[in-house]
Amino acid sequence: MAEPVPTQITQGCDEIEDSAPCEEDDIQKPDIWGRLLSINKYFPSINLTEDEYSLGRGKKCSIIIDSKEVQATKLFATYSSVHFKIIRDTVKNYVYIQDLSSNGTFVNGDKIGKNKRRVLDNNAEIALASKTNRVYVYIDTHAKEDSTIPPTVRDKYILSKEIGRGAYGEVKLCFIRGTCDRFAMKIIAKKHFTLLGAQAHTFNRQIELECSILRALDHPCIIRVYDVYDTPNAVYIVLELVEGGELFDRVVANGQFDESTTKFLFRQMCLGVKYLHDQSITHRDLKPENVLLTSPDTNETLVKITDFGLSRFINETTLMKTFCGTPNYLAPEVLSTHGEGSYSNKVDVWSLGVILYICLVGYPPFNDSISGTPLSDQIIKGLYTFPDEFWSEVSESVKDLIRKMMCIDPVKRLTIDGVLEHPWLADDYDNTARVNKIMFPSQTISTPSAGKRSACDDESPSTKPVDEKPVENNYASGRPKRVKH
Ligand code: ADP
Repeated sequence: MAEPVPTQITQGCDEIEDSAPCEEDDIQKPDIWGRLLSINKYFPSINLTEDEYSLGRGKKCSIIIDSKEVQATKLFATYSSVHFKIIRDTVKNYVYIQDLSSNGTFVNGDKIGKNKRRVLDNNAEIALASKTNRVYVYIDTHAKEDSTIPPTVRDKYILSKEIGRGAYGEVKLCFIRGTCDRFAMKIIAKKHFTLLGAQAHTFNRQIELECSILRALDHPCIIRVYDVYDTPNAVYIVLELVEGGELFDRVVANGQFDESTTKFLFRQMCLGVKYLHDQSITHRDLKPENVLLTSPDTNETLVKITDFGLSRFINETTLMKTFCGTPNYLAPEVLSTHGEGSYSNKVDVWSLGVILYICLVGYPPFNDSISGTPLSDQIIKGLYTFPDEFWSEVSESVKDLIRKMMCIDPVKRLTIDGVLEHPWLADDYDNTARVNKIMFPSQTISTPSAGKRSACDDESPSTKPVDEKPVENNYASGRPKRVKH
């Protein structure tokens, strides 16, 4: 085994040096040809300067994983004394990783296999013992950076792999240079908004204004916007990174949620939307694809509402025209005036009502295939029902709330405060306490009477399975369809 080599370990993750040579430095710094950027707090980030590194629990490894904190984790026992090696072949000019473990080393989700090798490409994600236990992103410091990214952005951030693609561009994992603080960078290409002359000027001013509003928002259930770069071709938005995926996929995978889980998620969505409404912001594009989750455990996850910025850059007419999917979540007043009327923030309450409906039964309230009535007419007329086949187990209280949210007359529709005051939410002190705890983990918040349960909540959360297995469902009106616009 190779002797341990001195590594540049940056335990606190905030001291990683950049490779840019400092001209005034007399001492020749070693060439940092790569970096292991930590994405797991127990693993130190490493600047790679030697030709070979070994990582594992063994004392002879160059990167020894044996801190007290990592030893206390369940996964520690699954790490091998030498788990993997990273080797730079200076002759053939490539870098590879060799799996030496019993429980596996994974690159981008694929198991390498014991004693096998895999070439490491820029941005490769390395996981240990389980493909979900991702610990490092490998950065090839000599890889060509995307020249389309403006220097102002590149100076501050290292852009890594793509983590998603939306209607207006891509979302990339990014790190602040010199640290391992991870964010999501959303890149919105302006070519999607064909605007000319004065219109373009107004648009750019609007972006500037909106971005300053968005950056000031701070609520646990609203995705944080940390930085915005507006360039002639694109807007770069640095967002809080959320790793549990979308509510949309979670509902599809689970079939539906029980009432207690739904209430836990829904209260958070409502508190996020209330915060926006209190700041005079209407989201306008609420749908399960825009609700992100921080954890794979649906009963322990924070909800993060996203995309509230983009919908403010475009008006309802554009929003409507650009829908190529279903307008399932659009309020009737938006549809009936083809997006050209003026609307209140009650459009968000309608959309939340649709989301609540879908969470409880796993199918949407409106569907193309119902009764020959076009979808938009169904929405405008409020033609939805609660068929016993799917709703008999669901409380009357939540059906009452849905009716009051999905009320076609926006004047009579509940406000977001009204939703939070509805007995289904307001009288469930256990749920309120759970939500407060997940939103403000370091605070002990007393609730009026924790332990008292609402009559409409018929099962204790602890008796429910954490995450039901995907269930095949006979949907009354089809699965929820992903909305693309
Ligand atoms: P859309 O245009 O469809 O609303 P987005 O551009 O917001 O989509 O996002 C595209 C993909 O990137 C989505 O699958 C989403 O899950 C993912 N994504 C967006 N924002 C974040 C984030 N802050 N953290 C992690 N993933 C994100």
